[in-house]
This record gives sequence, C-alpha cells and structure tokens, in this order.
Amino acid sequence: MLVDRFGRRARKLRISVTDRCNFRCVYCMPEDVAFMDREELLTFEEIERVTRVAVRLGIEKVRLTGGEPLARRDVERLVERLAAIPGLRSVSMTTNGYFLPAKAAALKRAGLNGLNISLDTLDPDRFLLLTRRDYLREVLAGLDAALAAGFAPIKVNMVVMRGYNDDEVETFALLARTRPLVVRFIEFMPLDNGNVWNERLVVPAREIIERIASVAPLEPLEHDPSEPARRWRFRDGQGEIGVIASVTEPFCAHCDRLRLTADGKIRNCLFGLDEYDVRAVLRGGGSDEDIAAVFQEAVANKWAGHLINRAGFVKPERTMHAIGG
Ligand code: SAM
Ligand code: SF4
Repeated sequence: MLVDRFGRRARKLRISVTDRCNFRCVYCMPEDVAFMDREELLTFEEIERVTRVAVRLGIEKVRLTGGEPLARRDVERLVERLAAIPGLRSVSMTTNGYFLPAKAAALKRAGLNGLNISLDTLDPDRFLLLTRRDYLREVLAGLDAALAAGFAPIKVNMVVMRGYNDDEVETFALLARTRPLVVRFIEFMPLDNGNVWNERLVVPAREIIERIASVAPLEPLEHDPSEPARRWRFRDGQGEIGVIASVTEPFCAHCDRLRLTADGKIRNCLFGLDEYDVRAVLRGGGSDEDIAAVFQEAVANKWAGHLINRAGFVKPERTMHAIGG
C-alpha cells in the first residue's frame, strides 16, 4: 500500500495523457508554448501497465486529464483498457468539453464513469478573454452531448477570479438547480505561467458560499475529507454545489492522490518540486516491482502540505497544463 510519513494512503491517480490543448486559458498556460515531443508521451500500453501496478498498490480511482485529454487521439481506447482493470473502481475525465459532441457517446460506451467539464463564464466575450479562444458555443454543445450520452451528474468546474468572472458565481450556482449538474467553484491557484496569479484575484470559498446563500439558502452536505470539494445543497433540495478551497483552506492533511504526467513522471503534489521517473523504468526494461518502487519513493517523499500562503513559496516549474490538473 502507498502510505506516506503522515499516514495518508494514496487511493487516486490523476493521469495526464497529453500536455497539448486547443485552448489557452490564461490561468493555465501561455499562448506561445512548446509542447512535449510525441515520443516523450507514455503510450496507452505504458499507461495501462503503470495503472495496473498502481491498482495493486491500492489505487482505486483514476482520472484522465491534461492538457486536453480529448486532444489525444483515440483516448476512448485508453478508457476501455483502464475500465477493464480488475480492482479499479472508477475511470473519469476532466475536459474543456470542446470535443464532447464528437466523443461523448464513445466515451460512455468505453466505460467512462464520470465527466468534469470546465467552464468559467457564460459570456462569449469573457470566454474569449479567459480561454483565448472563441469556443463557448462548442463547449455548451459538449455539455448537452454529455448529458445526452447519459453522464449524470456531470460536474461543471468554474475557476473563480476576482474581476474576471466572479460576478457570475450566483448564475453558475443556479445552473445546478435547473440541470442535472454539480457546479463546483475552484479557487484560483498559482499554477499559471507567472503573469496572472496574485492573491487579490483569489475569491475565498467562504465568500463564494455567502454570495450563493444570499440568492438561495444552502445547507452543508456530509464531507468526505479526502474529497477536495466541500458540498452544499439548496435547502429546497434542488441541486448541489461544491467549493474547492485549495488556497484559503488547504485539504493537504487528507490528500489521497498522486499524479502521472504525460511524459511519465510521478508527482506526489500539484505544488511539488520533485518528480519520479517511471518512464525511464518502463523503457529501460524494468519489472513491475521496479515500477512499484518508483511509486513507493514518490509517496515516501510526499510533504505535509503546500506552502502557497507562506513566505518562500516556490511555484513549480511546470504550469498546470503540463502537470495535469
Ligand atoms: N483541459 C482540461 C480542462 O480544462 O478541464 C483538463 C486539464 S485542466 C489543467 C484541469 C482543471 O484545472 C480545469 O478545471 C482548469 O480549470 C483547472 N485549472 C487550470 N489552471 C488552474 C489554476 N491556476 N487554478 C485553479 N484551477 C486551474
Ligand atoms: Fe487547456 Fe484545460 Fe489548461 Fe484550459 S485549463 S488551457 S482547457 S488544459
């Protein structure tokens, strides 16, 4: 089992399948970016092998992410392979939604259990400002396609940035009342390319909840401490929302996740500065035990928590798109 020095057991693995993306969200990546060479990316066979070992070590759930996971060709084939691994309880995906009109049904057939769709605004001009692409219509069509394919409930993730989109918080919350969506508000984290984040742009989760409660009364739902989102439902029982307070109320003490980057590095924290090279083992003829040893090393070195709110915080070199959000 993968238990760290602080007694936390890893149960979830986030797998980035590509660092490429058809969007250029200002909080995630620069416009002008050099992507990894294709040979650097783990193949589907390699990802499946690493996941099998991870499941043996106690990983129960995986989430595919990126970059944009649907920008990786035939990613539904990977979903199919992972969904067939005995002992793995769930395979889900976080996506910008753009390719869902073409892919949602195939993903469902392949055995994908859950979908998170990122959407930060319902205003086309703002969408262009935030993602640097004019694709709001396509993303909304993607959301409809995912609902039509039978994914339910779908989680909609909104990164809240003061002065950019925070005046839409109430509107987004009300979406959870009218459609089978769980709307989740994420505090803006310092994982952009260095030019945008500052703490004045972070809207604290507490403020988000107060604002929503002022338009429709809320009550808290039971909280699984290993889940990043604190959950609330509207008092009349229609709809659920979540807030992810990574900056103002870090949940590191209960963290149960590890990450695998698209180029085969294990990371024990989004904000970690070290990486553990599983690709070198895979491509150097290593055994499953050697792969397991890389996981064990990553977990042994996991720190107590991130230091965003402390002097001396050092941003990781990779931005979100290259880590896998
Ligand atoms: N391309 C996919 C998408 O956008 O959903 C998956 C990858 S993206 C890096 C995963 C999630 O990270 C998205 O919900 C995105 O909004 C979020 N994210 C990216 N940069 C962030 C930041 N600096 N702070 C908070 N969330 C961020
Ligand atoms: Fe692409 Fe997702 Fe990053 Fe936006 S948040 S640039 S959609 S990887």
